[in-house]
Amino acid sequence: MSARAVDPRVCPTCGDALTFEILDDERFLVVWSCVECGLVRATEPV
Ligand SMILES: [Zn+2]
Repeated sequence: MSARAVDPRVCPTCGDALTFEILDDERFLVVWSCVECGLVRATEPV
């Protein structure tokens, strides 16, 4: 109960909500970006 999962939709730097853009539907490549501090991170399958 005390474990807190890191929400990938929230910026780890400023805590603001991230917006995502799907780059490749088949490979599930998604880019998350923060409009507040400019952080960008991509997620893709291993
Ligand atoms: Zn941010």
